Amino acid sequence: MQIDLDPAGRKVVIFGDVTGARQAVRRFVSSGAIVTLVTPAPLTYGTDRISTVRYAAQPEPTDTARLLRLIGPAWLIVDVGLTAPLRRRISDLAAHLRALMIDEIAAPSRGQVTLVGGGPGSTGLLTLEACEALRQADVILYDRLAPTEDLAELAPGVELIDVGKTPYHHPIPQHSIEHLMITRAKRGQSVVRLKGGDPFVFGRGGEEMQACMTAGVPVHLVPGVSSSVAVPAASGIPVTHRDVSKSFTVISGHTPPGPEELEGLVRLDGTIVILMGISNLTQIVAGLTRAGLDTATPAAVMERGFSDDQRSAVCPVGQLPAEVRRLNICSPAVVVIGDVVRVSPLFARSAEIVDAPGHYTRSRRARAS
Ligand code: SAH
Repeated sequence: MQIDLDPAGRKVVIFGDVTGARQAVRRFVSSGAIVTLVTPAPLTYGTDRISTVRYAAQPEPTDTARLLRLIGPAWLIVDVGLTAPLRRRISDLAAHLRALMIDEIAAPSRGQVTLVGGGPGSTGLLTLEACEALRQADVILYDRLAPTEDLAELAPGVELIDVGKTPYHHPIPQHSIEHLMITRAKRGQSVVRLKGGDPFVFGRGGEEMQACMTAGVPVHLVPGVSSSVAVPAASGIPVTHRDVSKSFTVISGHTPPGPEELEGLVRLDGTIVILMGISNLTQIVAGLTRAGLDTATPAAVMERGFSDDQRSAVCPVGQLPAEVRRLNICSPAVVVIGDVVRVSPLFARSAEIVDAPGHYTRSRRARAS
């Protein structure tokens, strides 16, 4: 069972060393608690201190008077790595004082990078592991298409850096992002690189992983829900369907595929999913048609999937570029070409903008209640 409590204005006593307890301290400070950090050894000169935190040295388990002075009248006691005898003693005293006691995982002392797939733009599509990585971060570097609207709540007090790129406009170049990520990790920080969708699907996650490995920085990966599958699903389009399509190929429209690749795609006779395809759609569809694709093949485009203003349109692929222009559909959008589009409830409402069915974003639920 999980209960949300508001620690604002409450006395919270955290037991742990400055490094291991840094994230717990930051979370409670940012939520307005009155925090005391009790460290195993007195702080040395030069240790970075947070001005609103009271620091104290840890007493012996037998020093009941000092322990009581420290934890009474605490509302919450947080154990970030107490020794067993001290933990027993404090837990007895906490029970006596009717104070709550919880455990928190100690933050790692060695810097690391975690590449986190955030899904296509909705907090509801973050995995449990992604949420945990966000909570345990010291700094989050996030992209334009990552789900960011609930970041402050999911990662209280964590430093947030927007390294978002918009098409043809790169506020922070890729090498600078990698440099920033590695420098912070080498400083001992837990760095989360939060991306839209899955980091390894046209997300440059592979390059970032290699950059970390070259720099000797430990790197972890939390896969994400890719827009290539999830955005069609939001419009009721399954990328494969029994007796309709046995395969799906995800291509990037950023640099359109050449004639041979397009011929291969058409020969495969599966579903074609195009990411980053809006600007070059006319060229891609013309190429597919030259490669033998029937212009009557059903197609769909989904813009800003999982957002409040998601739009979708369905029409024969030959008409899709004109339809996209007419409706002024912009990036980010996913294009699907293939008979699977017929399976969608949208198909009957061909060439018409429709609101997407079946949304499950967290923020929407919160707003609705
Ligand atoms: N790594 C991402 C893809 C990055 S490429 C993933 O796995 O989803 C960026 C492209 O993904 C966009 O141009 C668009 O084609 C698609 N995309 C990402 N999020 C989207 C969204 N919410 N709605 C529609 N398309 C999206």
